[in-house]
Amino acid sequence: MARINRNFLKLPGGYLFPEIGRRVRAFSAQGTPMPLIRLGIGDVTQPLAPAVVDAMVGAAKEMGVKETFRGYCEETCCAYDFLRFAIRDSYRERGVEIADDEIFVSDGAKSDCGSIGDIFSVDNVVAVCDPVYPVYVDTNAMAGRAGDHDGERWDGLIYLPCTAQNGFFPSLPEGRAPDLIYICSPNNPTGTAASKEQLKVWVDYANASGSVILFDSAYEAFISEPGIPHSIFEVEGAETCAIEFRSFSKSAGFTGTRCAYTVIPKALERDGACLNALWNRRQGTKFNGVSYVVQRAAEAVFTPEGKAQTRAAIDYYRNNAKVIREGLTTAGLTVYGGVNAPYLWVRTPEGVSSWDFFDLLLKKACVVTTPGAGFGPSGEGYVRVTAFGDADDTKRAVQRIASVL
Ligand SMILES: *Cc1c(COP(=O)(O)O)cnc(C)c1O
Repeated sequence: MARINRNFLKLPGGYLFPEIGRRVRAFSAQGTPMPLIRLGIGDVTQPLAPAVVDAMVGAAKEMGVKETFRGYCEETCCAYDFLRFAIRDSYRERGVEIADDEIFVSDGAKSDCGSIGDIFSVDNVVAVCDPVYPVYVDTNAMAGRAGDHDGERWDGLIYLPCTAQNGFFPSLPEGRAPDLIYICSPNNPTGTAASKEQLKVWVDYANASGSVILFDSAYEAFISEPGIPHSIFEVEGAETCAIEFRSFSKSAGFTGTRCAYTVIPKALERDGACLNALWNRRQGTKFNGVSYVVQRAAEAVFTPEGKAQTRAAIDYYRNNAKVIREGLTTAGLTVYGGVNAPYLWVRTPEGVSSWDFFDLLLKKACVVTTPGAGFGPSGEGYVRVTAFGDADDTKRAVQRIASVL
């Protein structure tokens, strides 16, 4: 009889978003006094840039003509040179030299963050930030790298608390160094971004201890302040200790189009092996690349028109973030994030839990947020508000929240 991967049975069953859905449905079923405004979702709402759409249409037409039809991609790492070179050049514009065969194009940063564990031994000790993007935790749990769940935590993971006291950036752990360290900056859910000095501490630590940093910069396009690295490879020494995940999802509205990339420097070696070569082997075996049409769409993001048009969408969300930040601060709440990220991390009023504040905002203001406790124990006492909504809805939501406090 086939046996299952029993690690799946240890997963605590996707509590956060199903529970939000249940509460929202229960409330809506009684008839809401005002239309609901959803500021809980982590999905974009602005359409694709015209330059991107034109590129997709052009590529789709090529696929319908015998002379320009494309089958499997035969180029390096299952990605076309035109896209890998465009990505390489975008790093170069920030002063970072990445070779084009250090770039792996994929269908999403979620799949890459989730699959990267394939190249690491199951007995590696993993550290995650708390609060955290749940994908890092659950994929390691599935692989058997997280131990058992006690209702709140996995006993095999090292949790690095990110709180207002440490500026939502983790301090180095004491004792045994973790082997794999997930860092997401700009951060989902806290909306804060790490400085070069903060990242340098972790890069030095990883190089000294032999750890690998798995750096998720899915939100780099939202950075607005100088001095905040867009890539871990802006930090000296990162090429021997870090893997970077990037995505077109939030930077260019590709959540439904699907394209991302992962950078693994050839200088990154562990256990006598080059991690770039291992990932190349893994991808070559389990993945046949992203469609030609989508790779052309992604290439268009780097053209002058594509850059200007996608920047307009980012500016739209940035303005929402500013409206939320200023409005809720004026209303007396303590608000973090929203300057270099599309997320705001809002402190609940004194003595009110994440879920109770979520319920209050839902029932009194008809605004859906995300309870911080759902992202980890240190998220208790916060709710996450996203800037990805419609601008008018966002203004209305802020006014409503201010009126019910
Ligand atoms: C949205 C998001 C991503 C992007 O995932 P895709 O699969 O590329 O859509 C990656 N990391 C974090 C933390 C995110 O919030």
